[in-house]
Amino acid sequence: MDTTIAHDNQPTPPGAETFPFQAEMKQLLDLFIRSLYSSKEVFLRELVSNASDALDRLRFEALTQPGLRSDADPEIRLEADPQARTLTIVDNGIGMSREEVIANIGTIAHSGTRELVQKIKESKSSEQALALIGQFGVGFYSAFMVADRVTLVTRRAGSEAATRWESTGDGTYTVSPASRDRHGTALTLHLRPVDQDDGMPDFTDEWVLSGIIKKYSDFVRYPIRMQVTREEVERDEQGKPKPDAPKKSIVEDKTLNSMKAIWLRKPQDVKEEEHHDFYKHISHDWEKPLKTITFSAEGRLEYRALLFIPSRAPFDLHLFGAEGGLQLFAQNVKIVERCEDLLPRYLRFLRGVVDSSDLSLNVSREMLQQDRQIAQIRKGLVKKVLDVLVEMQEREPEAYRTFWKAFGRALKEGVTSDYEYREKLLGLLLFESSADAEKQTTLKEYIARMKEGQQDIYFLSGESRALIESSPHLEVFKAKGLEVLYLRDPIDDLMVHHVSEFDGKKLKSAANANLDLTGKEEREKERKEAEAGFAELFKAMQKRLDAQVKEVRVSSRLTVSPVCLVGDGAMTPRLERLLAEKRGPSQRRILEVNPEHAVLKQLKALFDQSKDDQRIGDYSELLLGQALLVEGSELPDPTRFSQLVSELMARA
Ligand code: ADP
Repeated sequence: MDTTIAHDNQPTPPGAETFPFQAEMKQLLDLFIRSLYSSKEVFLRELVSNASDALDRLRFEALTQPGLRSDADPEIRLEADPQARTLTIVDNGIGMSREEVIANIGTIAHSGTRELVQKIKESKSSEQALALIGQFGVGFYSAFMVADRVTLVTRRAGSEAATRWESTGDGTYTVSPASRDRHGTALTLHLRPVDQDDGMPDFTDEWVLSGIIKKYSDFVRYPIRMQVTREEVERDEQGKPKPDAPKKSIVEDKTLNSMKAIWLRKPQDVKEEEHHDFYKHISHDWEKPLKTITFSAEGRLEYRALLFIPSRAPFDLHLFGAEGGLQLFAQNVKIVERCEDLLPRYLRFLRGVVDSSDLSLNVSREMLQQDRQIAQIRKGLVKKVLDVLVEMQEREPEAYRTFWKAFGRALKEGVTSDYEYREKLLGLLLFESSADAEKQTTLKEYIARMKEGQQDIYFLSGESRALIESSPHLEVFKAKGLEVLYLRDPIDDLMVHHVSEFDGKKLKSAANANLDLTGKEEREKERKEAEAGFAELFKAMQKRLDAQVKEVRVSSRLTVSPVCLVGDGAMTPRLERLLAEKRGPSQRRILEVNPEHAVLKQLKALFDQSKDDQRIGDYSELLLGQALLVEGSELPDPTRFSQLVSELMARA
């Protein structure tokens, strides 16, 4: 077979159109070339990965469009020309139309590009920049790390027309008509000069190339071939080299990779690095994964999965439209590149491959969601992943903390959405707590530390640890040595709104109106005693505060502060604030007062003496304002509050 293809080495042909790179693209490219000096060789992994995807896509599209079926053996070729200092990566995959070239190469169809470029610019070290770039997966552009000019000639399968794309990576690219004798893509890199010190070996050298392919792309399921020249001397009948016989140069094809689908191999036969390299190949991440998960199911539906937990979250994990999804293979054909139906949304951070020979090749992408087999695989995967996380939490606490930092928030989404695994997910959560300022705790650990007679799990939400810790609501917990979980992330408030208990214990806000910390009877007695003297005053206060407060009562939880607000709704004040616009005015809560506080004593004395309704009312408003401020809520009327404070100060 003639494998030489006329690669375009000519100056830009006439009639070519020049386009500017998208602004972010240009910036990203500059950063990219500057930051990645130490790991240049990965460009080949990226380009081979694109070629392999192109072959996958042709195979898949040919299933439904027989016209695309080609008798050529799918392959990826490396063609090196040491004289011209070019390296060409050729595939006979799906190729691209002119429109596709313009849409795919030169623009980044990614939301959040601008933010990312900003972040990279602000990053403090090149390592940090590298990690950020790595998350992004700028596959094709890695070509510019090693080349100062890149030429691509491509022809879409099923079409006669070919397109040539060229750029020196300096802000513009040109697109022109071209010709190519078969479908697929040839990407020619005009290599920068060899500079071993700068991590730029000779990328036209057979051994350099085969070493990189072995290292990063051994498992690619298509042959990666290269023509190599071997010197041979004529041999005699015994196979010994004939003396003085002239040497013959033999040119032959060599396949550089073993092509074994890594997920079909027995996990114990695969080296950890091989899994890591495979992860990098599919994810475009530059860092190794935090955890590799292998799984195979037998029985009515057989499938294998090779999944990875990345070691950090992609920058857009919590942005709307963040992409998830696993590669789905059926009978050795990749049928979906990002199948989002294989995992619930809250596990969208997993990367990997699922392969089942029982799935039909005709399964349509649109129907996947309703597909019973897919649903069954999904069930198996969720269970497996959660089991791995439970095990990781128990046996590798350090790694689990890294996981938690990156993806904990996603699991919290799971608590609110996955009813089946809610309890298990709750068990996986880590919380800040009053018990330990450094180490986060699980609910199980909390329960193990519960005091004798303590019925419930307590939490309080707030913006920062310091703010929560100085909250009046915690006073009684501190006094009694009861542990409280600190909810810092607003999603926590939403979560506890959905969840009422764990392991038979109720989750209760420390600001709940109905706490039973002291034993009910004792508390009732205390309260009645205290209220006896206050009943009239409370009535007067209530009169002024009636719109916002449904009751004023003596508190058994305050030791230092004069007042606090408590409620019996399941919503935390913060959640209420978040939802306020949607839900209208907030619920009326209970104002609890500390009868031991000097302010209350003063107020009571004033009331007993003068029954000055106006002043009692004003002071009541001030007290309510304080209660709102300390919990981080907004004052309903800050001007009014400020006026009252001024009046009070003027009087003093
Ligand atoms: P990614 O591969 O992460 O999508 P790239 O920048 O590497 O990003 O490639 C951009 C797009 O260009 C690919 O998604 C693909 O559509 C197209 N592409 C790149 N290389 C090839 C190729 N060899 N054959 C066909 N299409 C390709």
